[in-house]
Amino acid sequence: MLLVEKENRLARHQTGRNSGVIHAGVYYAPGSLKADFCRRGASVTLAFCREHGLPVAQCGKLLVATDALEVARMADLEQRCRLNGIHTERLSGDALKRREPHITGEAALLVPATGITDYARITATLARQFTALGGRIRTGRPVTAIHEKTDGVRVTIGKDSVYGRYLVACGGLMADRLARMMHIPIDFQIIPFRGEYFALAPVFQGRFSHLIYPIPDPGLPFLGVHLTRMIDGRVTVGPNAVLGWKREGYGRINLDAADCLEMLRFPGFWKVIGANVKSGLGEMRDALFRRGYLRRVQKYCPSVRLSDLRPYPTGIRAQAVLRDGSLVHDFLFAESERSLHVCNAPSPAATSAIPIGEYICEKLDEKFSMSMTPVRASAAA
Ligand SMILES: Cc1cc2nc3c(=O)[nH]c(=O)nc-3n(C[C@H](O)[C@H](O)[C@H](O)COP(=O)(O)OP(=O)(O)OC[C@H]3O[C@@H](n4cnc5c(N)ncnc54)[C@H](O)[C@@H]3O)c2cc1C
Repeated sequence: MLLVEKENRLARHQTGRNSGVIHAGVYYAPGSLKADFCRRGASVTLAFCREHGLPVAQCGKLLVATDALEVARMADLEQRCRLNGIHTERLSGDALKRREPHITGEAALLVPATGITDYARITATLARQFTALGGRIRTGRPVTAIHEKTDGVRVTIGKDSVYGRYLVACGGLMADRLARMMHIPIDFQIIPFRGEYFALAPVFQGRFSHLIYPIPDPGLPFLGVHLTRMIDGRVTVGPNAVLGWKREGYGRINLDAADCLEMLRFPGFWKVIGANVKSGLGEMRDALFRRGYLRRVQKYCPSVRLSDLRPYPTGIRAQAVLRDGSLVHDFLFAESERSLHVCNAPSPAATSAIPIGEYICEKLDEKFSMSMTPVRASAAA
């Protein structure tokens, strides 16, 4: 089995640039793949970390409601947790203050199952297991072409090519391009959404026992700027959700002509922009002016000041958008005779990585006997 990764090391993109949260599965529609994979993924990820001595903490998370509208939305989330089989506890404003003296809210929902880890380290451990079982990893060159034949798949990597019986593609921000290389009919495009973070000043380290999340607007796909105790002890605030003009551009100002052109030609892009003008402009304003960003945090953590916001690496979410402008909320896969593509794997896909892997194996088992030798183009956690 061969794993091909275009970067010089694994987990250079979403898997190595996220909040490091092991999500419990609060938000996802009951019956969806996300709800199922995330709930199972949370417990297997914790177990995997403990078994392999990887850093992990089950610190729990607090969803903090700061006004009457958010209290009503919190009740909806509580109900969703019940349907998804996730244990929660409702806290009054006073009970919240006793647990988290620096956080202010009318009420909060405690989700004890939520945890934190380091997904890049999990990836490194999985890679070691993969090679110990005989797998090979080839980094530093992209897959540039894929041709499907009746008995296998030819994958071009730079000047070389390899042949395998089956291909699994987990291309993250490039998922649509890998599917299109094989002429698989897809009706979505990956739109990049930047997630910009700040690290809080060192004085905040150890100040919070839980992860602190706002109550999200159900009309928006992202969870809102949250306070995260990272596994290395730092506290981050973020991520926001700003349209990206370069799929893998992490600097402050990024523009890629080919990425932009592809996006501007896609009808779904204009529809998504049209439907989210107000929130999109708000995100852009707060990305440009830190005071707006700060206001979002101060809603539930008034002690954070502008000078407490320090630089921290940005992440970029790969979000599949359909031609009609709707965002694909659930995990999405596409297949051909000889390939399986993970097309949409946004958050909580890091938490769900092991169940996603099991799902892929089940799909492969359906097609082949145990003796198959697939090629896998690109990497995933
Ligand atoms: C800001 C942010 C915060 C998040 N927070 C969380 C969180 O707290 N918890 C959680 O569960 N999830 C979180 N997520 C989501 C999670 O990180 C991703 O869903 C998950 O990492 C996706 O994994 P992936 O393997 O699909 O994509 P990636 O990790 O992006 O990997 C795709 C790989 O494919 C490679 N590739 C692409 N094209 C080619 C090619 N042509 N040839 C070879 N290789 C190629 C890329 O180089 C890359 O390494 C977050 C994501 C972001 C961006």
